[in-house]
Amino acid sequence: MKISDLFQEKTVFSFEVFPPKKESGVETIYKTLEELKDLNPDFISVTYGAGGSGVANATTIDLCSKIKNEYHVETIAHLSCLYNTKESVDKILDNLKMQGVENILALRGDVNPDFEVEKDFKYASDLTEYILSKNMGFHVSGACYPEVHQEAENMIVDIKNLKKKVDAGAEHLISQLFFDNHAYYDFIDKVRIAGIDVPVEAGIMPVTNKKQIERMVSMCGASIPAKLSKVLQKFGDDPVAMRDAGISYAVDQIIDLVANGVDGVHIYTMNDPYVAKRITDSVASIVK
Ligand code: FAD
Repeated sequence: MKISDLFQEKTVFSFEVFPPKKESGVETIYKTLEELKDLNPDFISVTYGAGGSGVANATTIDLCSKIKNEYHVETIAHLSCLYNTKESVDKILDNLKMQGVENILALRGDVNPDFEVEKDFKYASDLTEYILSKNMGFHVSGACYPEVHQEAENMIVDIKNLKKKVDAGAEHLISQLFFDNHAYYDFIDKVRIAGIDVPVEAGIMPVTNKKQIERMVSMCGASIPAKLSKVLQKFGDDPVAMRDAGISYAVDQIIDLVANGVDGVHIYTMNDPYVAKRITDSVASIVK
C-alpha cells in the first residue's frame, strides 16, 4: 500500500526500528517486531546502515520483508545514497521488489569518514528521481528537518531544497526528532507557504536515557526546551524515573500535535517495545 494514501483516512501512527548491529541481535529484533506489530501501527520503517555495509543492507530488506509478509504490517525501507552507485541501488530495488516492499524512504545519508562517497547521487532528491525513473511501482518518502538540516545555510534554503525533493516525487515526509512543538508548527507553516502539500509526519523520540539523548541532540541539533531540560536534570540519573518522565513528555507532545491537526506521528522506538507500548496505550483514544 502506498503510505501517502493512509493519511486520507486517519492521523497516521507509525514506528521506526533499526537493524541489529550484530548477527546475534537478529532474534532480539524479531521479538521486538512481534511486540510492535501487536500495537497495530500503520507502518513500521526500518533504517539503513550508514556507509551502506552489505550486512546492514541485507538486514534492512529482510526485516521489511518480515514486517510486510509475515506480520502483514505496511513497511518503509530506508535507503541512503551517498555510498551507493546506480548499480548497487538497482540490486537493492530488485530485492525490495522481490520481497513485495513498495515504500522507500529515500535519503542522502550522513557523511561517514570511514567510507568513500560514490559519485552517482549527491542529494536525496537525486535518489528519489532515480527510483521513480525505474517505473518499478515504488512510492517514495523523504526526510525533513523542523529545526533545519545541520548543513543547510538557513531554514528558507533548506525548505527550498525540500521542495526539490517533493517535486522529484517524494509523496510523504517524516521529520527529524524534535522536542519543541512550536518549532514544528513554525516549520509546517513555512513548508505549506513554500507549496509543499504532502503529508508530514512528526518524528517523536521518547527521552528515556539522558546520555543517549545528549548524543542524539549533538548529532541532529534538536533544541531542548526548558521543561525537558528540567526533567533531564531532575531524573537523568534515575533510570526508571527518567524512562517514565520521558514517556510522559512524548505523550504530552503527541496530544498537543494531534490537537493541532498533525498529519501523523512517527515514533523512533529505539527498538524498545515496552516504551512503544506505554506510549501507544496512552494515546490510543487520541491518535485515530
Ligand atoms: P537531503 O535531502 O539530500 O539534504 C541534505 C542537505 O543537502 C540539506 O542541507 C539540504 O538542504 C541540502 N540539499 C538537498 N537538496 C539540495 C539541492 N538540490 N541543492 C543544494 N542543496 C541541497 N541516515 C541513514 O544513514 N540511514 C537511515 O536509515 C536514516 N533514516 C533517517 C530517517 C529520518 C526520518 C531522518 C530525518 C533522517 C534519517 N537519516 C538516516 C539521516 C539522514 O540521512 C541525514 O540527516 C542526512 O544528513 C540528510 O539526509 P536527507 O535525505 O535529508 O538529505
